[in-house]
Amino acid sequence: MTKKITVKKIQSIRGIHDGLPETVCQWQQVESAARTVFSRYAFNEVRLPILEPTHLFVRSIGEQTDIVAKEMYHFVDQGHDHICLRPEGTAGAVRAYLQAGLTRSGLQRWFYVGAMFRRERPQKGRLRQFQQIGAEFFGAAGPLADAEVLAMAWQLVHRLGLQHLTLEINSLGCPACRPGYREKLVLFLRQQTANLCPTCIQRIDSNPMRVLDCKVPQCQQYLQDAPEVISHLCDDCNSHWQGLQAGLTALSIPYCINPRIVRGLDYYNRTAFEIVTDQLGAQGTVLAGGRYDGLVESLGGPATPAIGFAAGVERLALLLPETMAEKAKVTMVAMGNEAVILASMRHADTLRQAGIATIHAGGGTMKRQMKIADREQTPFCLIIGEDECATGQVMCKNMRNGSQQQQTITQAMNTILQDG
Ligand code: ATP
Ligand code: MG
Repeated sequence: MTKKITVKKIQSIRGIHDGLPETVCQWQQVESAARTVFSRYAFNEVRLPILEPTHLFVRSIGEQTDIVAKEMYHFVDQGHDHICLRPEGTAGAVRAYLQAGLTRSGLQRWFYVGAMFRRERPQKGRLRQFQQIGAEFFGAAGPLADAEVLAMAWQLVHRLGLQHLTLEINSLGCPACRPGYREKLVLFLRQQTANLCPTCIQRIDSNPMRVLDCKVPQCQQYLQDAPEVISHLCDDCNSHWQGLQAGLTALSIPYCINPRIVRGLDYYNRTAFEIVTDQLGAQGTVLAGGRYDGLVESLGGPATPAIGFAAGVERLALLLPETMAEKAKVTMVAMGNEAVILASMRHADTLRQAGIATIHAGGGTMKRQMKIADREQTPFCLIIGEDECATGQVMCKNMRNGSQQQQTITQAMNTILQDG
């Protein structure tokens, strides 16, 4: 008796998904909308490394953040270097900006598209490998830049035809006004310890502003009267905050103020914003960003104002209608000897050169080949037998209405192109 050995199937890592054709079509839609919109604002694409030194993120994102404390994929490589799969794009962009010596080259407007990695609990719209489309604008300090960057983010979701999204804004103050606010907040939170979840209690000292965006409903209930940053802004931050709103109003961008937006990363100041939907549960933030004026300096560069955002490609794709993968327009069916097969291959090639997506049914019986044409749902079949081959023609069959006619390959091509 032969013993059957069962081999355990190798699966992808939990929270890391394959992009199959239909899904990738949606990702491409998101990317292509971003490219169109961003180019109108003169943002240029950069392609930055996926692997970065671990300390880049520890230094920029902050040790107390979820990302650095528990979500980074990091390892020591064979040369004993501490390496990390990037969890986000801003830190790497700033590193690249500094490394290229661009701090004296005026304004830089960058965007990127790529995979990010965070070891968090996988859920719908929350993956361990996901893609972000991000934009970073280096060198502009005023609220006009903020209004334009927020407008660009809004135009992106608008171009994708997404409805029921809200742009929410907040100000996080600056190193001048935040410490005073933080003290008030900590005092308030200490009075609430009996009502807050363990994570919030732990954060009161390490990262009190993060408590404000705790997702636990009971916490939110007891945070309703928490002091808000926007009531504690210094004059400069306040005029920036007013300027941002004036800019958004001038551009007719609808927004609402959400004093609970704090951003999970340490490096933000002043403007913080999110574009949210109520259709993805706890994964409702499709795009998030803000100003990070201190980051370039904290990574060793000169003081440089900057603002940026990142959108989650998979989350945006979840909001798009389902799409079909690319379909061929023509199936080439060949019936006959080798000369017929070779002629049919040349015809298929001619069609492709003219920009018509064509598949070859591979010869064999008519039944088998028509079955392929059916499955592929091509609107046309070009059939070539020995007679057609001798007269230099093909049978052009319209699969939608069943009509067919003998044509030269050029005539058939025109028929197909005219079909739109
Ligand atoms: P969340 O509050 O949902 O965890 P975040 O504040 O951690 O988001 P950012 O670091 O600001 O997110 O990233 C910007 C955007 O990237 C998010 O708004 C979201 O659309 C997307 N994103 C972040 N983490 C993930 C993930 N694990 N899976 C899929 N998309 C993600
Ligand atoms: Mg997160």
